[in-house]
Order: sequence, then structure tokens, then C-alpha cells
Amino acid sequence: MAEGVKGLSVLRQGLRSVVSRFYPLALVALAALTGIFIFAEQQNATIHRQQLRSDVQNEAGLIRSRLEGALTADVQLVRGLVAVLSTEPDMTQERFADLGAHIIGDHGEISHIAAAPDLVISLIHPLSGNEAAIGLDYNQNDAQRAAAYDVRDSGNMVLAGPVNLVQGGRAFIARFPIFTGEGADRRFWGILSAVIKEQGLYDRAGLTDDNLGIDLALIGKDGRGSEGELFFGNAEVFGDNPVLMEITLPEGDWLLAARPKGGWASAPDNRWTMRLVLLMAGALILIPTFLASALSAARRQAIEKLKRRERELETLSRRLEIAVETSKIGIWELDVGTGELIWDRRMFELYGMERSDHPVTFSDWKKRLHPEDVQGAVETFWRATQQDEHYLSEYRIVLDNGERKYIRALGSAYWDAEGRQRMIGVDWDVSWDVHLREELIRANRALTQRNNELLEAKLTAEQADRAKSEFLANMSHEIRTPMNGILGMADLLADTDLSEEEQLYVETIRDSSNALLKIINDILDLSRLEAGKLDISPTDFDLHTCIQQAVNLLRPKAEEKGLDVSVEIDQGVPQHVRGDDGRLRQILVNLVGNAVKFTAEGAVTLRARNAPTSPYRIIIEVEDTGIGISESQAQHIFDRFSQADAATTRAFGGTGLGLTISSILAGRMGGSLTLCPDRDPEGGACFHLEIELEPIRNPNALQEADQTPDLDIEVLRGCRIVLAEDNRTNRLLIRKYLARLPVTCVEAENGREAVEMCRAQMPDFVLMDMSMPELDGIAATQEIRALGGQQPVIVALTANAFDSHRKACLEAGMDHFLQKPIRKLVLLNALTALQAERLAAGPKRISAK
Ligand code: ADP
Repeated sequence: MAEGVKGLSVLRQGLRSVVSRFYPLALVALAALTGIFIFAEQQNATIHRQQLRSDVQNEAGLIRSRLEGALTADVQLVRGLVAVLSTEPDMTQERFADLGAHIIGDHGEISHIAAAPDLVISLIHPLSGNEAAIGLDYNQNDAQRAAAYDVRDSGNMVLAGPVNLVQGGRAFIARFPIFTGEGADRRFWGILSAVIKEQGLYDRAGLTDDNLGIDLALIGKDGRGSEGELFFGNAEVFGDNPVLMEITLPEGDWLLAARPKGGWASAPDNRWTMRLVLLMAGALILIPTFLASALSAARRQAIEKLKRRERELETLSRRLEIAVETSKIGIWELDVGTGELIWDRRMFELYGMERSDHPVTFSDWKKRLHPEDVQGAVETFWRATQQDEHYLSEYRIVLDNGERKYIRALGSAYWDAEGRQRMIGVDWDVSWDVHLREELIRANRALTQRNNELLEAKLTAEQADRAKSEFLANMSHEIRTPMNGILGMADLLADTDLSEEEQLYVETIRDSSNALLKIINDILDLSRLEAGKLDISPTDFDLHTCIQQAVNLLRPKAEEKGLDVSVEIDQGVPQHVRGDDGRLRQILVNLVGNAVKFTAEGAVTLRARNAPTSPYRIIIEVEDTGIGISESQAQHIFDRFSQADAATTRAFGGTGLGLTISSILAGRMGGSLTLCPDRDPEGGACFHLEIELEPIRNPNALQEADQTPDLDIEVLRGCRIVLAEDNRTNRLLIRKYLARLPVTCVEAENGREAVEMCRAQMPDFVLMDMSMPELDGIAATQEIRALGGQQPVIVALTANAFDSHRKACLEAGMDHFLQKPIRKLVLLNALTALQAERLAAGPKRISAK
């Protein structure tokens, strides 16, 4: 279907291109010639057919005449005998033979004759060979009776046949009735039969002539005309539109059909000659017509193109006219030699002058110029004419009414046909442009000033930000230092023998201090996160343990409240991963902490699974059966300092920062913290944490870490420790922490003292506070490292929580970093691990500077 449509469109295109290429006149001629050609072909065929028919008719006519002639002649001969018999009814055989011999002797096609008086054959010629027929009674003969009666009753001669003869061959039988007497005596005597040989008749008529140019067929056996049977030739001739002719017999008739030999030839012989003639004649007509058409088409095209150009030109000039009209551009032309100016209407309007009959001159133009611009404008103009270059100028003019305009002029010099220099150009009013330009310059200036102010403001803001950060760092330091004392002492106190009441006091001190520390940590974390100063530090860690530890931390509190705490970790969650375990733990502690805090009874459940997209995209949901979060609370729950309501604050405490920090941290870890999408607002809270972790880099390291043995105090045996700390409480605290260890500890109150102690005798460890009078921790470290030789392990003890400080410590040459408030276990852990490492690697040595 589609193929067909495509074919049709290709045909249509082809036809169109043919029509356009061969031009209409040539096509009309072609069509007419084709018509003539077809008509001539048809006429030629018709004439050919008619000619053929007439030829056939002529030839068949000849045959017909011959047949009719031969038969008539035969019948006439026999009729003579009939006449004799009717007068000599008692004719003898001899007489009969004598008369018969005339008939048969002259004409080969009558083979014999017989007379049958009273329908019984009694006379026959020739007798020899036919004796048997004598005595044959037609009345008794079934084959011939009907024919004999027919002849008798009709009284006419009857030509029957052709019939097959007993003695072989075929023949026509002409039977004549014979009557004797006249008038009333007239009486039927008998019959005379003459046998006319078929072949002989045909040969005589020329039917069997081999040179005959036609096929013939005859019907009408027994003289029955078109009703009779076919007895000569091929029946096919009758079906081939033959020429038909009636052959009239003495009695009855035959129908002769004729056609050219082998049938009607389809095409005339002269057709190729005729075609050639027609083609040549056609070519003689078509070629000149085509050429004439081509020429006329080319001419028509050229005229059309010309007309189109004319129309385009007209449109263009109309556009130009409109453009000039609306653009308010004036056009001028100057004869440089005479100073004569030609101005259009717009120029007069621009310069505020009346149109007059006398021409404007160069000095008329000059008079209009603003006094301050005359010199510059005239100079610019002359320079352009002298150097034959383009002219571009801007100047002010003053109108009669005092109005000032800024004019911009553009021109081009040329030499006319008479060899005079002329300049043609345009002027337009640019007062508005100039005004805008001045406005722009003013605005630019204001912008630059505003930019400078902003820059200053930015610097001030940055200074303020730095001051804020410093303040926060200082605050943190200032608060952490006493907190170190409070928490440490409370830890030490808890280790002593205390009464139950004293124990409660100590616990309260610890809880309050921890709560305070959490607040400080939260505020610090938030300020660091917002300043972009909190880095995510990925390490390889055990995710399952991390989750368990976070939950275990809060388990005692939950158990205290009688809550069920359960952790469900899906099988697909990888155990060893890479990420910031510290920050993950922080988020989990916050979520589980809140769940425990806001649930009075029931359960807290943590479920961990991995996202279907990746095993390292971890989803952790923390669900509880507590007071829940209403829809309106849900809107703001992640905003900083946001708590459900004042009553909650009073009842449960907290700063409203935990979720904000956790949510920002989750974002930094490539994920998010949201409320569970399908949570039930009435039935407790559910938080949905999603984070992106990575596969671990160093599986061995993790295994080693897993296998880290419990604290081995013995590795520290004999170690010498210098404690550099200006705060007395903290010195006391550390001293207490180290009291039961197999180490010696010497104390320095500032960095300088610490350096001197090291110079006197290198210790194994230096526990170095950061802010100290005389010489701070950083400077003291640098000096110790500069001493060279066998070096101690230097551990920073600092209340400063910023990553930048940690970096500064390590850069100054310290080995480790502990953040105040320092817990005993953390300190012992660090010392044993560092000493074990030192023993394995050998003491650090550097050459003195
Ligand atoms: P806070 O330190 O005050 O707990 P958070 O940011 O952690 O600060 O929580 C903000 C507020 O969100 C809480 O004060 C409380 O109203 C609500 N909230 C957090 N977790 C839960 C929870 N599991 N059930 C009910 N309310 C919660």
C-alpha cells in the first residue's frame, strides 16, 4: 500500500518535471501528433482489412460462377435426355446408351446416368460395371425411396448429395422427373438420375486449385442452403468472419464461405513504412516546436525574474523610505568645493530651520554649532575630506529657541562624474543616548562605591565571623578546662569508697557535667557545620559494632525506664565499611537518646537495612512507642533550636540542636534524616536515616583492630612521662589517673619548663597542654623536636575542639591528640596503644637542628 502511494508520488513528480521541462506548447504538439499517429494506424488497418475482404470476395466470386456454371451446364445436358425420354418412353438400352454417351463423353464429372420408368431402373449408361443396378425398384429401396417420391411429387429436378457411392467416392445425384403426354394425357413416366462426381465438379470449378489464395467451405448438403450440413472445406472458416456467398443451384442453393488462406492477416504490410514516415513528419514538427517553446519559456522566465526584482526593489525602497521616515535620520550632501548643501526635510527639522528656496550652505551649518564644539566639528569634517576617509563626528547644536541637541554625523566622501569632490552623509539626534550614557556613568560610579562598601562590609563580616569562631574556640576551651576537672574528679571520686548518698551526689555531678558537655559540644558542632569547618573523616570501621555500641551506650538508661531495646540488622548490611564512624555514632546516639528520652513505656527499636540500589547505601530507622511527633511539630523538627513545645523543654530538657546537627551530618554523608514516610503520628516517633558508605580500603587493618587486646598496662612499665599543664586541677587529675600505673610522672607548669625537662632528660611521653603561659604547647613541641636525638611521644591535651587545632598540633610534630575533658580510660588506652606501637617500631630519633 505504502509502496504504491510512494510510486504514485514519484510518478507525479516525474510528470511535473517533464511538463516544466518540455514546455506546454511542445506538449500540445506531442499530444496532437500522438493522436494523429494512432488515427493513421487505425485507418491503415481498416483499409488493409477492406482490401483483403474485397480480394477474397473477388476470388470467391469467381469460384461461385464456375460452380454455378458447371452445374447448370451438367443439368442442361441431362435435361436434353429428359426431353427425349418424355417423347420416347419406350427407349431401348442401345438408344439410351447412345444418347448417354454424349453426356458422359463430353463432361468428365457426370459418371453415369440411369432411367427408372415407374421407379424401377431399366436403362443405365454405361452399363458395364452397373448391371446390378438394373431392376432396382425405388419403391422397395429404403435408401432412395423418399428421394424418388420427392422428385415424383414435386415434379421438379432435385440435386442431392454429396453422398457416398457404393462403388466408392462421393457424388451429387441429380434426379429429374419425366412426364409423358400433354394436357390431360400427361402422366408420370419415371425418374432419370445423373451421378455428378464431386471431385470432378470441384476440380472444374477450381475449388481444389493449390494456388488458390483463399480458404473455402461449403454448406447446404442436398441444396438446403444455410440450413444444410457442411460438405466441403473446414468448418473453422465459417467462424472466422468469412465472406459469404450464396450459390444458386437449378433447385435449392449452397452457402460458400471464404477467407484469406490461413486467416485474416492482423497487420498491414506497410505499417513500418507508414510509421517511419509519420515519425519523421512528427520530428519535423516537434523539434522546431520544442525549440520555440524553450526559447519562449526562457524569455518568460527572464521577464518574470525581472518583474520579481522590480517588485523587490519597490518593497526595499518603500522600506527604506519608511525606515528613514521613522528613524528621524536626516540625509545631506555637500559639494566640498562650493560649500553648497542639499538637505532633506528631516535635516531641516533636526536643525530647527524653515525650508527655503535658496540652498543651505556649509556656513549655515556652522552657525548652528555650539560655540564650544565649532572648532572640533569643523576640523573633524575637513580632515575627513582631505584624507578621503569616512567621516564620523559628534557635536552639539543650538537652535533658535535655545534648545540644545547632541548630533551624531556619519558621512563618506566621493568624486562625482565632473571630478568634483562631494560628501554624502546622515545626521541624527543622539541627545537621549548621551543622556543615557551620562546616567550610566553616574550609575556605574554609584555601583563602584556600593561595591566598595559591600567589600568593606564583607571584610567586617568576615572579621566578625573570625571573631565568633575565636570566641567559640575560646569559650569551648574555657568551659572544657574546668569541665575536665569536674568530670575527672567525679570519676576519681566514684572510684573511692562512698556511702550510697555520696554515690548519688557524685552521679548527679557526672550527669549534670555530661549534660553540660553535650550542650557545649552541640553548639560547637553546629557552629563548625555552618562555617563548613567540620570535616567528615572516613576510616574503615565495623558498622554492626558501631550500631551496637551506640545503642548499648543508652541501654542502661532505657532499662532503668523499663523499655525494651532491640536492634535488627538485615543480612544484606555489610559489616566492614568505610565512612566517618564517629559522626554516625553521634547521629545514632542522638536518635536513640531522643527515643529513650521521649518514651515512658514500651520499646525502642533500631532497624538497619541497605537500599535496594546499593549495599553501601544504608537505611537506619529508629522507632519508639513514646509521645510521638504531631503533624505541626513535624514541620519544624529539624530546624535549629526547635523543640516540640515549651512543656517538652521543661519536662525533658535538651537544646533542640541534636536533630539539626544529625540532619546536616547525614547530608554531609551523602544522605538525609527525615521522619519515616509511613509513620503513625499517634503512635510514637520514627526517624529514617539514610547515608552513603563505601567499601573498606584495607581489610587487614580492620582485622587487626578487631583483634586489639584489652588494655595492657604492663607495656608502660618504667616509662617516664612529662606532664606540661598550667592548670593545677588538671595536673592533679592526670596525676591521679597515672597514680596506679608503673610509670614516673614529672610535672611542668608551662611549655618552657617542659622543654627544659626534656633537654635535661628525654622522657618517653610528654602530655602537652596547648595554652600555657611562657611557651604554648605548639612552640614547646617545636623546640623539643628541635633538640634532636631520641624523641618522646608527644600527646596534645586540649580543650580546643576545632579540626584546625588538631591539624596545627600534628603539624608542629605531635603524635596524638586528646580532647578535654579527658576520661581516664581514654588516656590509658592512648598511652598503652602508643607505647605498644613505639616498642614495635623502635623509639623515634631525629637529628638536632
Ligand atoms: P533536644 O536536644 O531538645 O532533644 P533534638 O533536636 O534532638 O533536641 O530534638 C528536637 C525536638 O524534637 C525535641 O525537643 C522533641 O520535641 C522532638 N523529638 C525528638 N525526638 C523525639 C522522639 N523520639 N519522640 C518525640 N519527640 C521527639
